[in-house]
Amino acid sequence: MADSGGGGIGRYFTIDLHLHTNRGSADSNLSPADLIVRSRAIGIGAVCITEHDNAWNLREIEAPAAESGVVFLRGMEVTTEMGHIGVFGLSEYVGGIYKLRELRKVVDKLGGVMIANHPFRYKLDPRFSFINPDHQAIDPSRPETAAKLEIFEVCDAVETLNGACSEEENLFALRVARHLGLAEVAGSDSHSKNSVGCVTTLLDEPIASERDLIDLIKARRTRAGRGLLAGGVTPFELPA
Ligand SMILES: [Zn+2]
Ligand SMILES: [Zn+2]
Repeated sequence: MADSGGGGIGRYFTIDLHLHTNRGSADSNLSPADLIVRSRAIGIGAVCITEHDNAWNLREIEAPAAESGVVFLRGMEVTTEMGHIGVFGLSEYVGGIYKLRELRKVVDKLGGVMIANHPFRYKLDPRFSFINPDHQAIDPSRPETAAKLEIFEVCDAVETLNGACSEEENLFALRVARHLGLAEVAGSDSHSKNSVGCVTTLLDEPIASERDLIDLIKARRTRAGRGLLAGGVTPFELPA
């Protein structure tokens, strides 16, 4: 299929599933206005604004977003005791969701999805083993062991490609997702303009709403990819 515009690059609809603006995340210097301009310039299909523990009302940017031709969706990156969880289907922060199991209950009631974001960031490095649940370093040669971590019992998908993780951390996340058969997604985790879209979730069809995205993640019809900023997208795969 030819590039049909509107975010189709090659045969994929590209979507950045994870980024932060300075409107809702104190650690970001990406303004919503710059995000809209940049998203249009790179030819991405959709962008999800996923602030830390708070949700946007996207009506605030409705007019410029519509004019850009890029689909803007709302998500949230919830801080839990077991790590950062990307959530779709949640319109506001709810007390108690810093507990992973409580978050699952809330998200289930709303028919949403949960993504284990950058699940191995720093966690393969023995110097940082104190951040792991059992204070042991995760063995990078044993994805089947890491797959038993509680976070993967509770989540629908794994962020197998995160723009701010090392290649080793991303490949390990992909191995774990494949071992479990969980949905695979990608997000840039941008906090500034230039990295928006550096990695993207790849869809076989365009989407127009947060609900469309939730349905595709539940159906495991997403994959991670990169290359949009270099003009060609390729799926993120394990080395042969
Ligand atoms: Zn995070
Ligand atoms: Zn983030």
